[in-house]
Parts: sequence; structure tokens; C-alpha cells
Amino acid sequence: MLTIEPAEMQHLVETLGAIGEQPGGGIIRHVYDAAWSAARRQLMAWMQEAGLVVREDAVGNLFGRIEGDSPRTILTGSHVDTVILGGRYDGALGVLSALAALRALKRSGARPRKSLEMVALCEEEDSRFHGNFWGTRAMLGLVRQEELDDLTDLDGVTIGEAMRQAGFAPENYPSAIRDDLDAFIELHIEQGRILYDEHQPLGVVDAITGFYRFRVTVEGRTDHAGTTPMDLRRDALQAAVEFSSEMTRIVSEAGRPAVVTNGWWDVQPGAWNIVPGHVEFSVDFRHTNEATKQRLAAEIRARGEAIAKERGVGIAYDLAGDILPMDMDAHVKAELQAAAEACRVPWKPMVSGAGHDSQIMATKVPTGMLFVPSADGRSHSAAEFTTPEDAARGATVLVAALQRLAY
Ligand SMILES: [Zn+2]
Repeated sequence: MLTIEPAEMQHLVETLGAIGEQPGGGIIRHVYDAAWSAARRQLMAWMQEAGLVVREDAVGNLFGRIEGDSPRTILTGSHVDTVILGGRYDGALGVLSALAALRALKRSGARPRKSLEMVALCEEEDSRFHGNFWGTRAMLGLVRQEELDDLTDLDGVTIGEAMRQAGFAPENYPSAIRDDLDAFIELHIEQGRILYDEHQPLGVVDAITGFYRFRVTVEGRTDHAGTTPMDLRRDALQAAVEFSSEMTRIVSEAGRPAVVTNGWWDVQPGAWNIVPGHVEFSVDFRHTNEATKQRLAAEIRARGEAIAKERGVGIAYDLAGDILPMDMDAHVKAELQAAAEACRVPWKPMVSGAGHDSQIMATKVPTGMLFVPSADGRSHSAAEFTTPEDAARGATVLVAALQRLAY
């Protein structure tokens, strides 16, 4: 059995994590910026040193390959970009585990039956351009030509211009398409606290959550806060608050993995002495089962309409996203579970409440995900941490899974 040591993972995490790290802590590595390019150069050097065949595609996904008897390819990796002031583990740990796994396999000398590749996907986080999953979408032929000009960052730079500045030829994006992939495996930190709280070292993902997002607008009437008796008001905020509290109850009663969040609010006119007449707020509702997701979404919407009627206010919904949950491939999942058993690493079936490249990849390629614990559930923060021991256990299971799929 090939084993990855904690010290190796610690060294990789610390070296890559120093690239783009800000003076007060937290990393900024946005797609096509200087830190992003430096991180890729470091990965390239490691891959070359390990004897992998290094290649980058037209959009900036970076690959290291071990050629097998067949050109059909087993791919593993994650993303190398970060959110603003992100941590050392989100995305990076999947890339570094893939690196540790492939160099251990390369060192072992055995030629695989299928070809093996690691990937640092160029963009997942949506933090510079609203171009979520850019690298994965390019590989699957899901990038649209107009996006090159339409996606702009805060400085007005288009993604096409940013690509050119980073040394890529944006017009070549269709050449990034892959049709040789037999499987994709992504190791990722959980970004939640379930494994950490239960002292479990590994999760094998069953499904990635679907989203149902909409904006609620409640129209009441502005009135004088002193002269309008409570029973005569059409207070838009009170209706919205009742609706928020009711949807929270509905979703809580449905139990895990259903979650709902009202993270953004706009209350007008926003004065101490005026009854709020107009309120807008966001609804981000998630579930991994599509039928349950649609049923609960319908129940939530109906409850809002009933509350509006009782309170004499208007209510309107603007759908902002209805994304299907994505089941992981049964065969890949079984191989991940068997690999964990073979390595004697206890594992737990999990759902992913966060979005990942894997949910896009799974639309065309058999895909599976491994989760390792996030200390205290922290993520999208400099406080992200996974112990070197947990990271090494995850990478060791990844090696075993790749051996099962490719050798
Ligand atoms: Zn991520």
C-alpha cells in the first residue's frame, strides 16, 4: 500500500499557502492574477520534478499526466483560485493531494492501464468574475463565446482581456474540451463541521446540494410611526419577518440536509419614525433531493402568499436560480468506499451543502468526492485548517482509489 505522510502534506500546504497570502492573514489568488500565476508555477515545478507530463489548456487549467496503456483518463484535482482572504485548504488541498498521489504512483514505477492526470482547475470561486466553474465548464464545452466579453471584474477588465494578460489566447477556449475522461475524483475540505464534531476522518459524498434562490419583494404602506395604530398598519417589514421566520420553521422541521438562509435585506425607506413600506430580501434554499427541494420550495412560496394576504401587503418573487442537485457516480463512489476500507480509514456518507466543480463535472463524467475534516467547520477564511494527519489519510485513500480505477 502506498502511504502519504503527514509531513509531506504539511510541506505542500505551507508552501502553496504562502503564495498570495496577505500581511494580515488570508489568501488572495484570483484567476489570472499574479499570485494565481505564481501558484501555478510552483505546481508546475513540483509536477516536473516528479516526472509528470505537464500541460496547460487554453483557459489555464494545469495538468500533470502519467501515460497509461489506454489514453482514457482518470482525472483528480480541484481548484487553485481562492475567495478574497480565503484559507490554505479550500481547493488547494484537492490539488495537493492529487500531486502527492500522482508522484507516489509515479515513484512506484508501475505503468497504469488507464492514463492518470492531476488538475489544478483555474477558477471555481466566482470571486473575480461571475464565471463560476470557468475551468470545468471549459473542459466540458459549457463556456459560451459571449462570456469572454460579458464577464468583467470590478475594474471593468473582461475575462478575455485578463486571459490575454496572463498569456492565454481566449479565442482558443474550445480547445480545452476533453472527451477522454472516464472518471473525476475531487478531494475537498468539508467546509462544515460534521466530520470535525463526530471525530470522523473522511466523508464519501453521495450528492451535491441543489439550490433554489429567489428574491422576495413585500409591498406595504409607509405611515407615521407615532400616529398609526398597530392594527391599522400595512408594515412590509413585519410581514417579511414573519415570512422569514415561517420558512425557517418549515425547513428546520424538514430536517437535514435542508437549509435556508435570508442573508440580504433592504428595508425602505429606512427611518426610525416611518413604518417600512417596501422590503426586499434573499432566499437561498438548498436540498440534495430534487423532489423534496421542489415540494419545500412550493410550500415556502405558498406560506409567503398566505402571510401577505393576512397582513394586507403585496408580495412578489423573482427566481434567481434553480439548480439541480447532483448525485455522485455509483461506481466511482463504491471505489472510493472500497479504497477507504482497504486503507482502514473510517468513513461516513455525506452530502455536500456547498457547490463544487464536481457538480458540473458530474453532468458529463462519472464523478466522486472525498471530504476531509475542516477544524471547527471554518472555511472561506484564514482560519481554515485540516490537520496534516487528516490530510495525509485523505491523500492515502485517494492513491488507493486511483490504483483501483486506473491499474
Ligand atoms: Zn472549493
